[in-house]
Amino acid sequence: MFNDLFQLVRSHFETDDFIPLHEPRFSELDKEYVVDAIDSTFVSSVGAYVDRFENELAEKLGAKRAVVTVNGTSALEVALRLVGVRFDDEVLTQALTFIATANSIAYNCAHPVFLDVDRDTMGLSPDAVRSFLEEHAEKRDGGPYNKTTGRRIAAIVPMHTFGHPMRIKELCALADEWGIPVVEDAAEALGSSIQGKFCGTFGRVGVFSFNGNKTITCGGGGAMMTNDAALADRAKHLTTTAKIPHRWDFEHDEIGYNYRMPNLNAALACAQLKQLDRILADKRELAITYRGFFKTVEWADYVDEPEGSKSNFWLNAITLSDSKVRNEFLEASNSTGIMTRPIWKLMSELKMYSDCQCGSLKNAQWLEKRVVNIPSSARKMTKLGAGVTET
Ligand SMILES: *Cc1c(COP(=O)(O)O)cnc(C)c1O
Repeated sequence: MFNDLFQLVRSHFETDDFIPLHEPRFSELDKEYVVDAIDSTFVSSVGAYVDRFENELAEKLGAKRAVVTVNGTSALEVALRLVGVRFDDEVLTQALTFIATANSIAYNCAHPVFLDVDRDTMGLSPDAVRSFLEEHAEKRDGGPYNKTTGRRIAAIVPMHTFGHPMRIKELCALADEWGIPVVEDAAEALGSSIQGKFCGTFGRVGVFSFNGNKTITCGGGGAMMTNDAALADRAKHLTTTAKIPHRWDFEHDEIGYNYRMPNLNAALACAQLKQLDRILADKRELAITYRGFFKTVEWADYVDEPEGSKSNFWLNAITLSDSKVRNEFLEASNSTGIMTRPIWKLMSELKMYSDCQCGSLKNAQWLEKRVVNIPSSARKMTKLGAGVTET
């Protein structure tokens, strides 16, 4: 039943070998920049590539500032702290997400509250957030409080699942009404946009990841995006050991983190950013191929970009009719050397988070049983012809 898809995937990637879900793509430019960083001897915690990547990333996405870190999880952790999440606060987020979203809340000694996603975007549902707040929250000094637990609701963290933009404008408007800051987990959504505005630039802070499996990678890395210059300055200070700049003195004015991105990684990040548009174009081409293919089959539906938005198509996803067909598909594809993977288990079903408060998780539960990711890499440079070094 699935063989036509397997053939299509093999002919797209032009290989009979194992096909991973998402592999990084490197060019001569990447090597050139990394070698330059090594030659400079500035491979570690200081160097020109870090500043350069922050400037170029902010400019590319139309944000005032970017502060880069060692990975996306650390960026989320610090972003939450900077918008005011404190010990014993609550943070509203989606039940269907990668573990880092929930962990970054727990690292701040705060409690995640898991709410439903929308069926179409697979991201946090503004309707679910609205009904939760109307049912459980009351406005007091210092922000809204959860009437059931007595805790302050200190932030909302939506996530753009697989790069498909969730209803971020609607959510931000709702969050404003309640006076709750939004930290946008855009780790998967670099280059995705809604009416020309990039994901990761809607919330008080937006977070990206440059892990090896993401749209572009620098080995490991993360970023916080914000239009608030004071917040960006605090982010930089806090992630670089909170040291007061001085030519020789070790003066630190609070307990900071060593979360900075090494210059060696930043060099690779600068080179990868130059290739982002090429990578996105190639990923869109594959998405169009998949979209066309899944119109012709009965056994699965293609999860397409939500209307009015542009996805980066980080990971292509399909929904199968039930968990039995899903399991058959996972078995058949992985046995033939084509990597596929189910969507995450709900956070509320993991033992560390099983005591957390939840809303109705109807859509999240429906998707959890059916959604599978299929191979989504950008093709090798050689398949794209020359000219990979320009932006
Ligand atoms: C990748 C990812 C992160 C952060 O990942 P790091 O591996 O720490 O860079 C956070 N949230 C989501 C949803 C992710 O997919």
